Amino acid sequence: MRDDLYEGKAKQVRLLPNGLAEIYFKDDATAGNGKKRATFPGKGELCCRISERLLAYLAREQIPTHLVQRKDERTLICRAVEIIPLEVVVRFAVAGSLCTRTGLPYGHPCTPPVCELYYKRDDLSDPLINDDHVRLLGIASPAELATLRSLALTAAQALRTLFLQADVALFDLKFEFGRADGRVWLADEISPDTCRFRDVHSGQVLDKDVFRQDLAELVPTYAALLARLEKIPALQVPAFSHQEVA
Ligand code: UDP
Repeated sequence: MRDDLYEGKAKQVRLLPNGLAEIYFKDDATAGNGKKRATFPGKGELCCRISERLLAYLAREQIPTHLVQRKDERTLICRAVEIIPLEVVVRFAVAGSLCTRTGLPYGHPCTPPVCELYYKRDDLSDPLINDDHVRLLGIASPAELATLRSLALTAAQALRTLFLQADVALFDLKFEFGRADGRVWLADEISPDTCRFRDVHSGQVLDKDVFRQDLAELVPTYAALLARLEKIPALQVPAFSHQEVA
């Protein structure tokens, strides 16, 4: 296997020689830690466009993100970072594994928001861990952990407020972070693959739960979400031009 190419479940990352990386969004979707799989033509492009808009917005809100610019319909050019093997989940309402773990009902508000850490290890099924485990494993220093928690909470709050302009409730989301140039950057993607979005009025599911729970067609759901987000003035990024940066 080439050492400049990382194949993930939904993305491919190719390291470029100049401290940058290309992130290619595939049409594949998995759920239940890879137990359920399918390919949805058009999904990669939608997740790429949504991630670009959300990462660019957070950068404007002073969150350091790895995004440099979009290269084409399904490729982002990003700063190459060393990924910290943690999934940082921020929750504003109870859903998914938090229902199972706590017995609280779906939709119960998390006030203040709940922040959780999961160890990114497919072979261990990405277990929930705490700060002591992070220290034991040497995954991140206490200072890095404090930074990524604070960045995750600030970014999640900003997005939650923003989405309300499109009548979209953000129930929860997952962030990943990486190191480069001696600091921590918000990395990976922010899309309906990694967030729970609900219509504020009807509760309609607007994210990957449509696939996890066989609720609706995935691509039209993601396309409808993008259309709603595109109407938010702060998310109107300049139109795409085929500019080669690498
Ligand atoms: N999530 C993710 N990748 C994962 C696990 C979770 O992006 O490997 C996101 C998921 O989309 C949701 C949030 O993290 O927005 C919380 O997920 P949860 O712990 O409830 O897990 P689930 O029940 O979705 O497996």
